[in-house]
Amino acid sequence: MGRNTEQQIDGEAFVLPAAMIAGATFCAAESEVCSRICNAATGETIGWQEHATAEMVDRAVHAAHDALIAWRHTTPAARGKLLRKIAELLEADRARLSAMQMQVSGKPPFEADLDVSDAIATFSYYAGLCEDASVFAAEPVALPDDALLAERMHEPVGVAALIVPWNFPMVTTAWKLAPALAAGCTVVIKPSELTSPTEHMLAAIVSEAGVPDGVVNVVNGGGEVGAWLTTHPLVDKISFTGSTASGRKVMQAAAHDMKRLTLELGGKSALIVREDADVVQAVSLAVGGAFANAGQMCSATARILVHDNVYRKFMAAFETAVRAVVVVPPQGAEGADAAMGPLISAAQHARVAALVEAGVEAGAQIAFTGQLDPACADGFFMAPVVIAEPAADNMLWTDEIFGPVACVKSFRSDDEAIALANDTRYGLVATVVTNDEKAARRYKVQLRAGLVWVNTPQLIFPQVCWGGFGLSGIGRELGVAGLRSYQELRHTVGMRA
Ligand code: NDP
Repeated sequence: MGRNTEQQIDGEAFVLPAAMIAGATFCAAESEVCSRICNAATGETIGWQEHATAEMVDRAVHAAHDALIAWRHTTPAARGKLLRKIAELLEADRARLSAMQMQVSGKPPFEADLDVSDAIATFSYYAGLCEDASVFAAEPVALPDDALLAERMHEPVGVAALIVPWNFPMVTTAWKLAPALAAGCTVVIKPSELTSPTEHMLAAIVSEAGVPDGVVNVVNGGGEVGAWLTTHPLVDKISFTGSTASGRKVMQAAAHDMKRLTLELGGKSALIVREDADVVQAVSLAVGGAFANAGQMCSATARILVHDNVYRKFMAAFETAVRAVVVVPPQGAEGADAAMGPLISAAQHARVAALVEAGVEAGAQIAFTGQLDPACADGFFMAPVVIAEPAADNMLWTDEIFGPVACVKSFRSDDEAIALANDTRYGLVATVVTNDEKAARRYKVQLRAGLVWVNTPQLIFPQVCWGGFGLSGIGRELGVAGLRSYQELRHTVGMRA
């Protein structure tokens, strides 16, 4: 049936099946769509991804729906055991998972390894929550009438559609899958067609861990496959990460059945360097915040605000640091030193290049750029770009670029810095660099962002929620709130026995 599907994803070019439903793989017919999976660092074709049909999506949702009855009644402790097993198997497969992240996305070795660590930490954390009976127990609610007893309890939402993008494959999936399973939901995952191999490996690990067939299903393909999921009447909850534009479509699709919704969308976040900041530290945080994952992060702090009194010093040190960023393919001779990888695809490269061109045409000035190694010629690499003092309405200052492009603007007071930082319809994260505790407190309170870092890199812990204000989305992932987002709240009120 269908193509010669090679499921062994080490070695020669592979073809990944269209779907994994209730433990069985489904291949597409020859006439169905199949997309190319590239090595972003070399441009080479490394495999093919078959796309699921509408019928397969329907079958996957039904499989999740059928599996729900038994899964929701497993104990949290039993689910925790499986989550812990998944974390252990991820750890055991760390080298292969990390190599796949490098092979597909071209991530530098340390970034690829960090992704695996993040996924492991997420499964471990939700395993821990499952082992804590109080998280799932019914809680008494105090009432003014002692004759009555009220209780609050949390029920699994049901079947969850998990739609993930390409910038942190496996990580974004873990952020959704671990709390969904912990809550007692069954799922259908839709990975990005550009980076599905890691989700394919993750699904195999979930199955090996002993998660019952039908609890986790995967349908592959592009936006149309995601759209079929979002309109399926048996899907109770959608958790989507991606662009704000697609997020709007998902929200509209969810409206008809009032599906529960978590949206983790774009950002245009600020990094603020106060006058009292350690400039060396500020530069290091600015480089990481803008150019990690080649800037393809919803949390990129690509609007850098620097106090006027340290602006020249900062810019000189920033230029030296940006020119020193090693941009090379991770597999090459210097791969171990790679600090920044390529963009995910030729299309993303063209999109970012066009935005830079349009921004410059509209008056933005490129202050300096980083450098590209000749070994980058065949991949989708772009050297870091730094824009100085763009106009407030320039698209490079206002729009999410999702590439290695940072803008720097000066400010003269905390009031001005906070106003500039908050002058965006997004509100995902912010970073403040200061040695003044009182000032730090003020920024923490007044910055309109879901997560504020003070003098740290973008540290992410599964204990700390992720999500933002405004156009950055709805709801929170990670933490206890991440678990609750896969649960319905129910109250009971009755006469005390
Ligand atoms: P999208 O938002 O289009 O895609 C994210 C995921 O949603 C993918 O799996 C995609 O499928 C799927 N999808 C697309 N349209 C729909 C739909 N109508 N219903 C359900 N699912 C859908 O991001 P892109 O990959 O197109 O990237 C474009 C831009 O989006 C980037 O340049 C960046 O600005 C932003 N972005 C933001 C991310 C974030 O973390 N906040 C992540 C990725 C992108 P598929 O891609 O397979 O077609």
